[in-house]
Amino acid sequence: MEREVRVRFAPSPTGPLHIGGVRTALYNYLFARKHGGKMILRIEDTDSRRFVPGAEAYINEALAWLGITIDEGVREGGPYGPYKQSERRDIYRHYVKQLLDNGKAYIAFDTPAELDARRAEVPNFQYDASTRMSMRNSLTLPADEVQRLIDAGEQYVVRFLVEPGRLVEVNDLLRGKVTIKSDILDDKVLYKSADDLPTYHLANIVDDHLMKISHVIRGEEWLPSAPLHVLLYEAFGWADTAPDFVHLPLLLKPDGKGKLSKRDGDRLGFPVFPLEWHDPASGEVSRGYRESGYLPEAVVNFLALLGWNPGDDTEVMSMDELISKFSFDHCSRSGARFAFDKGKWFNHTYLQALPDERLAELFKPVMRAHGVDPDTFSDSYIARAVGMVKGRINFVEDLWDQAAFFFRAPEEYSEKDVRKRWSPEMPELMRTLAAILEQQSDFSAAAVEPVIMDWIKSNSLHMGNVMNAFRLTVVGECKGPHMFEVSELMGKDETVRRILAGVERIKPAE
Ligand code: GLU
Repeated sequence: MEREVRVRFAPSPTGPLHIGGVRTALYNYLFARKHGGKMILRIEDTDSRRFVPGAEAYINEALAWLGITIDEGVREGGPYGPYKQSERRDIYRHYVKQLLDNGKAYIAFDTPAELDARRAEVPNFQYDASTRMSMRNSLTLPADEVQRLIDAGEQYVVRFLVEPGRLVEVNDLLRGKVTIKSDILDDKVLYKSADDLPTYHLANIVDDHLMKISHVIRGEEWLPSAPLHVLLYEAFGWADTAPDFVHLPLLLKPDGKGKLSKRDGDRLGFPVFPLEWHDPASGEVSRGYRESGYLPEAVVNFLALLGWNPGDDTEVMSMDELISKFSFDHCSRSGARFAFDKGKWFNHTYLQALPDERLAELFKPVMRAHGVDPDTFSDSYIARAVGMVKGRINFVEDLWDQAAFFFRAPEEYSEKDVRKRWSPEMPELMRTLAAILEQQSDFSAAAVEPVIMDWIKSNSLHMGNVMNAFRLTVVGECKGPHMFEVSELMGKDETVRRILAGVERIKPAE
């Protein structure tokens, strides 16, 4: 029988979710949905020293924003909860005891100072088969002494007993079989009495087993832990139901040289976090894709293609299309360059596909930020305005640059354009133009354009100069969409008012 697909995204709440983590979550999600399986969100918070307040809420908010829905998790509940590791202490205690009872692990009392001393003494010291019998642990101390130390409250850790001379096979769906010798592994700490919590390795394995995880899909940085995980499954007697591994390639700097970092984002001007993050300790604010004006659909599409392709050169794909096409067959094993310009291109493309009404809604907060109350304009006015200029934008914010003139009359006029277009006869010509426009009962572009063209031709006026001067008074500079569509949308009163204001206020260049 085919095993039910159950995958988990298992972040540690140690700060904002990095964009690489988001891609890991996304691939888990695509794989789960593709196979009609379940997506689990598990919070791995057993390292209390690295806990950052707000990080868990941030993870939830980021995934929700991107449309990565969770089937089982802290908020969603589910049959295998709790889904937060700090709430599973009793469970881990039971499994630590099982390993100790079966001789697969042992108790070690070595203090940090003692360990440091050994490291200073023995080059490349590693706590393993070659050294463990010379350390202070339950393999070297008499049983009653071990018990006495525990009863006296001495702090200890539980270490995994790695047998030397074994070949450990990690089966990775992307990389194939990776074989290593157990001798290179150290006796990893699985549990610390100091905080009565397991370490990442133990909690991760126990939970993957209890939560019936079928595939562990995670970043390449976890590949070195995989042999230990294989041995742990075996030690528990769970080898038969151990999940398959997929270790995703790293996200690389835009130039392909090394791992993508927050500093690359700061240096080159792109976010490496899905949402803006306010560091609770330093107060530092890091940019987010959401706040930088990206649509979640664009971010999802962009990230999906960093390390995967659909088998052809299709680029623009909705979440549903990504789900139906997703498979690890077309995942790459080498790192994916973080080509953030492509991210902009995706955003541009998705913005073009949005209905103007929706774009208008997204633009309203930008208007407010620039001191314009959107409620003083009709929704259809805003929608038509943004519709006219959207071809030129990568971000919703860019709409302000392109469309501000629709919402407030120019206060200044581009010096360069004044110099070029505002010749001495312009004030008089513009007054005439205003008078002609004033007489039009139908102010649609289709009706007004021929009238003005006629006037220009029959008076042998210079088309470019007149139209640009007209534009200068209405827009404040010589750019923008088709002039008669602009005037149609603004309406007669506003258009005429702006022309006459321009005539008063534009001072011809010397
Ligand atoms: N808690 C680990 C992390 O923060 C999970 C790694 C894994 O998926 O096994 O990424």
